[in-house]
Amino acid sequence: MKWLGRRQSDNVEDRRGVSGGKVALGGGVIGIIILLLNVFGGETGQTVGSALEQLQGGQQQTEAAAPLSKEDEEMGNFVRVILADNEDIWSKIFEEHGMTYKKPKLVLFRGSVQTACGGASSASGPFYCPGDQKVYMDLGFFEELKTKFGAKGGDFAIAYVIAHEIGHHVQTLLGTSAKMRQAQQGKSETEANKLSVALELQADFYAGVWTHYNQKNLDTDDIDEALSAANAVGDDAIQSKMSDQVVPDSFTHGSSEQRMYWFKKGFKTGDIEQGTTFEEIR
Ligand SMILES: [Zn+2]
Repeated sequence: MKWLGRRQSDNVEDRRGVSGGKVALGGGVIGIIILLLNVFGGETGQTVGSALEQLQGGQQQTEAAAPLSKEDEEMGNFVRVILADNEDIWSKIFEEHGMTYKKPKLVLFRGSVQTACGGASSASGPFYCPGDQKVYMDLGFFEELKTKFGAKGGDFAIAYVIAHEIGHHVQTLLGTSAKMRQAQQGKSETEANKLSVALELQADFYAGVWTHYNQKNLDTDDIDEALSAANAVGDDAIQSKMSDQVVPDSFTHGSSEQRMYWFKKGFKTGDIEQGTTFEEIR
């Protein structure tokens, strides 16, 4: 993916230098000093303002995490470019359909994180929380995608996953997610799971649509990297890593084959009207 020198989004909250923390704040002076070190320790994403907000909000925050390496910084910048690409492309698509795209935030974290959807850890994999309209990711996930799930890796694997999560945001804005949850009421588990699969595959389709409009920035291997990641994040793979925490994006996702099919369909057509997973998954 050609990304160097391109626009970076301001909507990334980089919490990687700050531990999610199991210890409640109340460490007094020491807690505050550690927090300030985190803020001024060369980390770019987190502002003093948001750190203060966390302090005042009484959120759990104490242990210092390792400072960001050069590689971590670079990954952060890559994520900012991908998010910016998503903002540009979805804003345009929404506008073409007479709607306004509301930009979501993307939170980078390490270890564990608190969200409007409950607590989550790295083991849950990247996810979107409709409650606060934020995408949460621990980039360590992508190492595991390679080592544990045999994905090819590469930068576009990350781009695909971000685009998939943004796809869930698009579904939230369009009201698809709410409609789907309503339709699940009173259904058998099998039927409810089918609806969930349709939602997930549509997010893959949207990731494909985004890729369609990003073709000029693609490297030759990028589509393979996306497909390999889609292949690796079939249901079984992610769910076997689940813990007992609340993670909305942990339901049934569809088979590897289905995931690749819908990504490719989005990539080929670039037409959001053709993401008809709800009609086709029965
Ligand atoms: Zn998903």
